[in-house]
This record gives sequence, C-alpha cells and structure tokens, in this order.
Amino acid sequence: MKKRPFATPEKLREIARQYPTPFHLYDEKGIRENARALYEAFSWNKGYREYFAVKATPNPFLIGILKEYGCGCDCSSLTELMISEALGITGEGVMFSSNNTPAMEYDLANRLGAIINLDDITHIDYLEKTIGKLPKKICCRFNPGGLFQISNSIMDNPGDAKYGMTKEQITEAFRILQKKGVEEFGIHAFLVSNTVTNDYYPMLSKVLFELAVTLKKETGANIRFINLSGGIGIPYRPDQEANNIAIIGEGVRKVYEEIFDPAGMTDVAIYTELGRFMTGPYGCLVTTAVHEKHIYKDYVGVDACAVNLMRPAMYGAYHHISVVGKEDAPEDHLYDVVGSLCENNDKFAIDRKLPAVETGDLLVIHDTGAHGFSMGYNYNGKLRSAEILLKTDGSFELIRRAETPKDYFATFDEFPIYEKLVK
Ligand SMILES: *Cc1c(COP(=O)(O)O)cnc(C)c1O
Repeated sequence: MKKRPFATPEKLREIARQYPTPFHLYDEKGIRENARALYEAFSWNKGYREYFAVKATPNPFLIGILKEYGCGCDCSSLTELMISEALGITGEGVMFSSNNTPAMEYDLANRLGAIINLDDITHIDYLEKTIGKLPKKICCRFNPGGLFQISNSIMDNPGDAKYGMTKEQITEAFRILQKKGVEEFGIHAFLVSNTVTNDYYPMLSKVLFELAVTLKKETGANIRFINLSGGIGIPYRPDQEANNIAIIGEGVRKVYEEIFDPAGMTDVAIYTELGRFMTGPYGCLVTTAVHEKHIYKDYVGVDACAVNLMRPAMYGAYHHISVVGKEDAPEDHLYDVVGSLCENNDKFAIDRKLPAVETGDLLVIHDTGAHGFSMGYNYNGKLRSAEILLKTDGSFELIRRAETPKDYFATFDEFPIYEKLVK
C-alpha cells in the first residue's frame, strides 16, 4: 500500500513556517482511533487494560490522550514513573516492568502503589530489603528459553534474552512470594518485538495461559492477570500488511476459552504493554533537504540526523520517506538520505528511490511515533527537536519545545565555565 503522510502538504508547510524543522509531528486522530480499536478488540475480557510503554514516546501530552481511553503506564525507570505520577496515573494504573532495577526505582514504584513486575527471582529479596513489606499483588516475568516459533518461522530467541525467569524459577518465586504474604499474582512475558502477524499474541497467550494453569495447580497461587506486554508491530515498509487488532483480540479470546474456561480461571484479566502499536504510525519526523552532494553516490542532506531518529543507524531499520508535494511524482532518483553527524551510519535511507529532491523540499520520515524521539541523544552536541501535535480539529500545538544550547550545557551550571558557554 502506498504510504502517505497523515498531514497534507499545505498543513506540513504551514507548521514548518511556524516551527523550524526538524520536528516530530503526531496525529491525534490516528492515536485516538487506534486506542479505541484496541479496547474494542479486548472488550470481551472484563479486566482488560493497556499499560502504554512510556519508553516508546515519553510525552505527557500524548500519554494524557491515551489515559482518556483507560490506558495506564508501563514504566521502567525513575523519570517514566515521574511522568506517570504527574499525569495522576498511580496505583494499579502503573505497571513497573523493569530489569536490573536500581533500588531507588523500586522505592518510587512502591510509593506510587504500582504493580511491580519482577524480572528475576533474586529481586524478591532485593525488593523486600528496599521497601520492607512486599505488596499484596505482584507480577513475575517469564522467559521460556529456546526459540519462539510461529509455524515454521523462528520469530526470536528468548534463550538469548536477558529478561525473565525460567519455569523452575517462576514456580519457586510464586512459592516464596506466597510465604511472604503476597496474595495476588500476574505473569508477564515479552518474547518478540515488532511482530507483523496476527498470530503472535494468540501464540504467546497459549504459552502464558498454560503456564498460569500449571502454576495455579502447583502452587495454589491466585492468578489475577496475564500481561502480554508489547511486541505488536507496525508496517514500516509499504509492502507490509498491518496487523488487525480485532483479529488479534479474537485470537486471544479463543485461546482463553480453550485453556482458562476448562480450568475455571474465567476471571483472569488480560493486560498489554504496547508501545510501538499505540503511537508508531501516528508520528513522523519532518525535515528539510538542505544539501545535495554527488560523489560516488548521490546524497540528500537533511537537517535531521540520527540523534532525532536512531533506528536506521542502530538497527538498519527501514523508515519510509515521502517528499512533500511530490507524493505522486515518479520515484526515478536513487539517494542516500543523510544527516550531519560525523558518523557514516547517520543515514535515514540508503539507495532509496525517491522523486528528484531539491534543496528546500520538506521530507517526511514515516512511523517515528514510537521509539523515535525517545531514543534521541546528543552526540556531536546535536540538540533534540520539538514535538508537535496535529490535533483532531486540524490545528497544531507545540507539545515539547526544541532543545537550545542552554539545555545542552545545563549540567555545567555549577561550574564557572557555564556563564561563558551560555552567554
Ligand atoms: C519496550 C517494552 C514494551 C513495548 O514494546 P513495543 O515493541 O513498543 O510494543 C513493553 N513492555 C516492556 C517491558 C518493554 O520493555
């Protein structure tokens, strides 16, 4: 399917006249429609809740929109917990799914009343030493090891992942936790990232529901929820077909009825911790072509760089690019689209067919709404961009300003050099 920006060329130009590029632009309408569809897909499950993975897009304005639909926050760091708290999302609205967790973060999660998701059996003692009495409800993260396969294709290799507990450990953990007074349990696993198939959640459900039945039998634990975590992907490439969340929800329901109904576990809530699926397609990076260069290859140099979107440099990830106003022009030029870092991997696209690009053209880099801005960094002293929300009524609003050199130098503020840096 042809990928088009969610904003018209006129709107993109209008925004770019008011706010200098580069910036990340988010589509309120898309975020709302998708959140509604997700809740609809799981409406068969009474306790269903999405905990938005804050790390995907830690902007309080966007998370505030998701909150309207009932979403909580999946946090794994101090500042993510602080965002959640500032939005009034506390108590069981917070899932704290971290790993290798510092004590201070457990402490804040506990003070907020978050559901704590233990990544390892040794964290039972660590948590108890940190917060004193354990909470009444706790979650444990499972890692089945081996390879995770759907039909004949290997999706990922959990045996190689640092997360979660083995089957033996999670069983033991449930026993220990019960002895320490924990009364309600959850089970969590995140086995594959960015799956573009409707089968992942149902397959994962089978693994986790069967584990839940076994754990209940073996330990007598009262299992209150299964957290399917993240991993529902988005079609970054034009030839990929998007997941259908309604089909995914039905798929999970079928497995639920097959496994939980006969076991009499019909009041177990389903939780998700989606990030990419919630905001990924509803954000883009808008940038201006500032240079062209012709040596052994043809380059378009833009005013964004890998600090604004790290995925292509880090994973070789594909992000579709539209040249604004030339959406239907023939793609008869072959370019590398590059940023300005002194790093040869600072390329948004390599050997990409695009219409002829002229300096001054606006380029839209698609699907940056999750793991885009949030993975930003400051290498080469580059500054983070603004974030702008295109609202449902067509107006737009700055929801995070761009960094200035003053922000970059802020951590020198106790030193005499500071005055010279920011003068
Ligand atoms: C990153 C992460 C998520 C979200 O993953 P997506 O691929 O964005 O859906 C959810 N849960 C945990 C624990 C994570 O680390």
